[in-house]
Amino acid sequence: MKRSPVSPTVDFEQEGVQHGFLRLPHSRDDSAWGSISIPVTTIKGGEGPTVLLTGANHGDEYEGPIALFDLANRLKADEVTGRVIIVPAMNYPAFRSGTRTSPIDKGNLNRSFPGRPDGTITEKIADYFQRHLLPLADFVLDIHSGGKTLQFVPFAAAHRLADPKQEARCVAAMKAFAAPYSLMLREIDSVGMFDTAAEEMGKVFVSTELGGGGSASATTLAIARRGVRNLLVHAGVISAAPEHAASILLDMPSGDCYITCETTGLLEMCTDLGSPVHTGQVIARVHDIERTGTAPVEYRAARDGILAGRHFPGLIAVGDTLAVIAVPVP
Ligand code: ZN
Repeated sequence: MKRSPVSPTVDFEQEGVQHGFLRLPHSRDDSAWGSISIPVTTIKGGEGPTVLLTGANHGDEYEGPIALFDLANRLKADEVTGRVIIVPAMNYPAFRSGTRTSPIDKGNLNRSFPGRPDGTITEKIADYFQRHLLPLADFVLDIHSGGKTLQFVPFAAAHRLADPKQEARCVAAMKAFAAPYSLMLREIDSVGMFDTAAEEMGKVFVSTELGGGGSASATTLAIARRGVRNLLVHAGVISAAPEHAASILLDMPSGDCYITCETTGLLEMCTDLGSPVHTGQVIARVHDIERTGTAPVEYRAARDGILAGRHFPGLIAVGDTLAVIAVPVP
C-alpha cells in the first residue's frame, strides 16, 4: 500500500499539548502548491488509553466542531492519563463550505472508508484515519447531528456487533455519554462508514445524532459537551465524577422503523420529535405542490414507538427519509 499523502505537523507520541494540522497537499487554481490543513490537537499525559474525538465527518453538523474546538483549547496535559486526539472537523473542505459532502470531489467521508492514499481528496482523508489515526485509538467518539436535511431527538448510538463483548463495551460507552436517548442504531447503509471501519478494528466506538437542521442549539451543545467529558471519564483518561443524566434506551428492531417518502411535495409533520406514535397513526402528510384539488398523501407509522428523526426542510422528494421511529426498551 502506498504512503498516505497526509503529514501531521504534531507528534502523537510526544507528551503535552500540541496544536497543529493534518496536512494534505491539494494543488489547485488559487494555490498551486497549496494544502488542506485539517486542525488537530493531541494531548498526552503519560501511559493510558487513547481516545479519538471527531466532529464534522459531515460538514453541516455543528455540535461536534463547537464542543471539540472548545475542548482543544481547554484540556490540559496534566488532566489527562493517556492520550486524547481531537479532530474537530474531519471532512475539513465540507466543513468550510457548510455542506454535508466535500465541495472538491462531492465525497461523503462517512461513505468513503477505508479510503485510498491515491484516491480523491475525501478518500485520502479516509485512508489517513483508517491506517494512521484509528490504529492509535482505544475509544472513538464521532459526533454527528442531522445536518441540513434531517433532525433527531438527541441520542448517542451503538450498533449490534458480531462480537458480543465488543458490543457490550460500545453500549457501556454509549450509556456513559448520557445523551437524553441511547439508541441501538440500525443503519440504512453501513458500507464505507467510519463507524464500520472503527468497529472492524475492534475499537470501542460511539456515534451520536444530537439535533439537526444545519445548526446547533444551546441545548444540543450542552449535551455534546457533557457527553464528551463523560466519555473521557468512562475511558479513564480524565479522573472526575461523571455527570449523570437520565437516558431513554431505544431500539430499532426492524427496517420498518424508517419511513421513506414516495411522493414529492410539501411536508406537513403531524407529530413532533420525541412524541409517542402508534401503529397506523398518521405521522405526516405530503401535499401536492403542482395543483390544488388533490388530497395529500398520508404516511403512517408501521409500529409503536417514538418519533426519533424526521426530514427537516419544508419540501420533500421521492426517496427521502421522511421519519425514523425508535422503540423504547423497557
Ligand atoms: Zn452526519
